Amino acid sequence: MAYKEPAPIKDKENPFESMMSRFNIAAEVLGLDDETYEVLKSPARQVIVNLPVTMDDGRVKVFEGFRVVHSNILGPSKGGIRYDKGVFLDEVKALAAWMTWKCAVVDIPYGGAKGGIVCDPSTMSAGEIERLTRAYTVALIDTFGPDQDIPAPDMGTGPREMAWLMDEYSKTKGMTVNSVVTGKPLVLGGSLGRVEATGRGVMVSAMAAMEVLGMDPTQSTAAVQGFGNVGSWAAKLLAERGVKILGVSDVSGAYWNDNGINIEEAIAYKNAHNGRLEGFLGAEPISNEELLTSKVDVLVPAAVEDVITAHNAHLIQAKLIVEGANGPTSANADTIINEKGIMVVPDILANSGGVTVSYFEWVQNRLGYKWSLDMVTERSDRIMTEAFNKVYATSQKFNVPMRIAAYIVAIDKVAQTYKFRGGF
Ligand code: NAD
Repeated sequence: MAYKEPAPIKDKENPFESMMSRFNIAAEVLGLDDETYEVLKSPARQVIVNLPVTMDDGRVKVFEGFRVVHSNILGPSKGGIRYDKGVFLDEVKALAAWMTWKCAVVDIPYGGAKGGIVCDPSTMSAGEIERLTRAYTVALIDTFGPDQDIPAPDMGTGPREMAWLMDEYSKTKGMTVNSVVTGKPLVLGGSLGRVEATGRGVMVSAMAAMEVLGMDPTQSTAAVQGFGNVGSWAAKLLAERGVKILGVSDVSGAYWNDNGINIEEAIAYKNAHNGRLEGFLGAEPISNEELLTSKVDVLVPAAVEDVITAHNAHLIQAKLIVEGANGPTSANADTIINEKGIMVVPDILANSGGVTVSYFEWVQNRLGYKWSLDMVTERSDRIMTEAFNKVYATSQKFNVPMRIAAYIVAIDKVAQTYKFRGGF
C-alpha cells in the first residue's frame, strides 16, 4: 500500500498557510525571535525540474517535478515523493515543512523534505513510470544522497518506484547506495516492522495518553476511522491490549458492535474483499459521521484529512483523540476540542512511528546489518514513548494543548540546533 502524507490542512485552505497557523501559535508561546522565525519558516531549497520522457507510442512528453528541502539543520532531509496530477509547489512546501517538525518531535537526526511529479500514474504504463522515475532521479542527482536528502514513497509511489530510484542513483555513482532511499522492498534493504510501524506508534501513544489520563485500557472503548494500513494495525494492536473496539470504518461506511468488533475477523474479511469492509457481518452498518461522534473513550481518525471540523467537533464524545491520519482535525476545530477538555495526540506525534522505522531502515543500510523485528519494535516503542512524555511535559509546562506542545518541542529543537550551528 502506498505511503501517503497529505498536509495537515485546514478545511481545504492553502496547505502552507494552515500549517503555518499552528506553527505561529507555537512560535509565539516559545518566544521565538524574528530572525530564527524567518529561518525556520523558509524552505532551504526548492527545485523545479522538467523531465522529457519517451512514452510507449514514441512521443516525448515533458513532466514537471519538484523537490523542496525545507530544512537540513538537524541532518539530511527526509520526505516522500508524490505522483499526482494535482500536486503543486505550495503543497510540496507545506509537506516538506511538516516533515521537519515530525522528525524533530521524535528526535530523529533528519530535516524535512518532499517531492512531487505532476502526472497521473493510473494512465501510465509501468515502463513509462519507470522512465519518469529514473529521469527524476538523474535530474535531482545533486540534491539526493544518503547524507543530503533521502526520499521515500508517498501518494502514488511505493517500493517499486523506490527500487528504480535506488538503482538509477547507484548506477550514476558507480556503486550500490541503498541508503539513498527508504521504503524499499525487503530484499533491497527495506526494514522489518515498517508495514505496521505507524499503527504501532498510534497504539503506543494511545497507551501513554491513557496512562496520564488515568484510563484503564481494559475498561476502555474505541472507534477507528479508516481500516487501511494505519487504522487496521492500530485497531488490532489496541484490541490486543484489551481496548474494546466498538466501531471501525473505511470508505464504504462504518461498522458498529456494542459487544466489540473482532478485529482479526474484520482484517481477514477486508483482505478477502479487495481491501474493503463492505458487507462485513460482525457489526451493524452506521455512517462515518456517526462513528466520529459515537460514545467511545478513544477516537482514532486514521483515514483522511479534515474529518473533525467546526461542524462536528462539538458533538465528539471521546475523551481522547489519537491522530493516525495526517491533518484529520481542521485548525478551526482546535478551539472547540480544547474547550471540551478532549486530549488530542496530534498527527506529528501519533503517526511518527512510520518515519521512525524509515530512519531505522537507513541506519541498517548504512551499517550493512539487518535488525530483527524485536529490535525494531523495542527501539521504535521507546522512541514513541519518550516523544509522548516530552510533548506531555511541554503541554503541562506551558499550559497548552498537546498539538501546540508538539510544535513547541519541534521548533525549539530546530531553533536551538540552528543557533549552535550559526548562519553566515
Ligand atoms: P490506506 O490507503 O492504507 O488506508 C486508508 C483507509 O481510509 C482505507 O481503509 C480507506 O477505505 C479509508 N478511507 C478513505 N477515505 C475515507 C473516508 N472519507 N472516510 C472513512 N474512511 C476512508 O492509507 P494509510 O497508509 O493507512 O494512511 C491513512 C492516513 O495515515 C493518511 O492520512 C496517511 O497520510 C497517514 N499516514 C500514514 C502513514 C503510513 O505509514 N502508512 C504514516 C504517517 C501517516
